[in-house]
Amino acid sequence: MRNILFICALLIVIQACRQQKNMEFPNETTSDVETLNTEVSHWEYEGEAGPEHWAMIEEYSDCDGLDQSPINIVNYDRGISKGSLQIFYADSTHIYNVVNNGHTIQYNFAEGDYIMLEEERFDLKQFHFHEPAEHLIEGIRYPMVIHLVHRSATGDYAVLAVMAKEDKSSEPFDFLERYLPIQQGDTILVDLAFDMNLNLPEVRAYFSYTGSLTTPPCTENVKWFIFRDPITVSLEQVEVLRKLMPLNNYRNEQDRNNRIILLSE
Ligand SMILES: [Zn+2]
Repeated sequence: MRNILFICALLIVIQACRQQKNMEFPNETTSDVETLNTEVSHWEYEGEAGPEHWAMIEEYSDCDGLDQSPINIVNYDRGISKGSLQIFYADSTHIYNVVNNGHTIQYNFAEGDYIMLEEERFDLKQFHFHEPAEHLIEGIRYPMVIHLVHRSATGDYAVLAVMAKEDKSSEPFDFLERYLPIQQGDTILVDLAFDMNLNLPEVRAYFSYTGSLTTPPCTENVKWFIFRDPITVSLEQVEVLRKLMPLNNYRNEQDRNNRIILLSE
C-alpha cells in the first residue's frame, strides 16, 4: 500500500513538472520572468540538446511541424498581406527589465507599444537578439537580428525582425547596453522609457509570411514581418551582446513547404 502511495505521489510530481515545462514561453509578466530565472534550461543551440533534437526533447512542441521558422526569404511576391502591419510605438513606453535567460538577452516591456494587424491588436511583450540572424534574405545572413515579440489577447503571436549590419554605432544600443545582465539567470530592473521606433529601419518595407517561434515549443501560426533594410550597429556593440549569449544562438533554415512570402511594396 505504501508503495502504491509513493508511486502515485511520484506521478503527480512528474505531471506537475511537465506542465511547468509547457509554460516556459512566453515570459510576459513579472512572475513569469521570475519563473524563468529558476528554471532549468532543457534545450540548447548545440550538441545533444541542439536544434535537430528539439522535437524529441520538447514532447509537446511543434518543432517538427511543416510551417517552421526561420526560412530563406527568396522568390517573394509584391503585395500587402492580409492584415497588413500598422506600428504604434510610443516614446513613453517603459522597458521593465532585462533578463539573461541562457538563450538570449531579453528586454521585457511594460504595456504601451503595440501593432495592429487588420482589427487585431498585438502588444509588444519583449525583444531579444540572435547572433547571427535567423532568417536569410536572398541567402544573406546578417550578423545580428532583433526579434520584437508581440501577442494578442487570444494568445496569437506576431514577430517583427530587424536585421543589423556592422557599420556606424547605434545610439539606442548605447542606451540598451548600459543594462546588461552578465550571468545566466540575472535580471536587471530598468523601468525607463524607451522609444522602440529608434530600433526600426528608416524605410519600413517588410517581408511577411506565416511561420513559427524559432525556439521551443516552436509554436506555429506566428505572423512574421521581416524588415528588408537593416539598421546599423558597430562591431563593438555586436560583440558586447555576443559575449553574453550562447555562441551562434540561431536556429538553422527550415523547409519553406510552398508558403507564400510577400514584400510590402
Ligand atoms: Zn528570436
